[in-house]
Amino acid sequence: MGNCFKALSTGEIDAIVVDRWIGEYELAMSRIADIKIVEPPIETQYSRIAVRKGDSETLTLLNSGLKVITDDGTIDSIMEQWRGKRVLYLTEDYFQLFYLRTVSFFFFLVALAAIYFVRKYRKLSLELEASVIERTKELHHANEMLKAANLQLERITMIDSLTSIENRRAFDTAYQKTWGICQRERMPLALIMIDIDNFKDFNDTYGHLLGDQILIQIAQVLKGVIKRPGDLAARFGGEEFVVMLMNTTVEGAAVVAEEIRQRVEKLGREKWGKEGVLTVSLGVASSVPDAAKEPMELIDAADKALYRAKKTGRNNVKVWEN
Ligand code: GH3
Ligand code: MG
Ligand code: MG
Repeated sequence: MGNCFKALSTGEIDAIVVDRWIGEYELAMSRIADIKIVEPPIETQYSRIAVRKGDSETLTLLNSGLKVITDDGTIDSIMEQWRGKRVLYLTEDYFQLFYLRTVSFFFFLVALAAIYFVRKYRKLSLELEASVIERTKELHHANEMLKAANLQLERITMIDSLTSIENRRAFDTAYQKTWGICQRERMPLALIMIDIDNFKDFNDTYGHLLGDQILIQIAQVLKGVIKRPGDLAARFGGEEFVVMLMNTTVEGAAVVAEEIRQRVEKLGREKWGKEGVLTVSLGVASSVPDAAKEPMELIDAADKALYRAKKTGRNNVKVWEN
């Protein structure tokens, strides 16, 4: 059969009449491509069943069986199953090639999917990174704002709302700190306690609102007399003020106290045209802090000096001496 096909392809013969299945199978096996199969077939025949000549028993049996499956339609469904089906003949090489292609295609798909996911992951990771940077920036900004707000808040809690100078809290903090510095450096630390004279009467006469204005103006006087960075003027409470002077002896502090007294007196004189309406009494104390002393002692000493100033007619400066 193979030779016949070869002769056909070389043109030695023009055609071969052969059973279609066998012919197609042979064509596939011998890989002869340029041969045309003529459609439709010159003859179509179903397969037949044969029995040995004279074996009428088997023949009758087969015929009756065929009649049964013809009558109940089984034969039609069998024929239907085979009609119009194209039969492919796969050779082993073709199958191997097909297998190789399928496997290659599968791996190609896997590679494509891998590339897709790697790219997607890379994109996601870049987005995530950018988002983290953005969040970090926001966090940093919020942190800075918080710090500034805290600083502002701390400042507010340290400032007296009426006079806008440092309050008692600020004084206490600064005093403790300055006490430590002066102790280390063996420097004298001076305090001036200031109390407005007869302020109850002042309020009664001129009203609390004007009294408040006076407190603001005296605070400004105090601000005006302190000049060095370590010095501090604060509202000690009510109508009492305190001035802290670093590295200052009692004599030096007494000079500053006298200046405060005169400036307040001048303020009153200018406002009311007479003496005695607005004056302050001042107590001065100074000491070189050491381990044997308590910070409170100096405050107490300045307070006692102030008390003496009050006792000796007010509107004067008294210095605490042991
Ligand atoms: P002294 O000369 O003995 O100090 O007499 P004083 O009347 O000033 O007596 P004291 O110091 O005890 O009186 C404090 C008065 O200060 C009482 C109160 O009416 C007044 N005062 C305290 N804080 C304020 C304030 O914030 N505003 C006003 N307007 N008055 C205040
Ligand atoms: Mg007082
Ligand atoms: Mg007073």
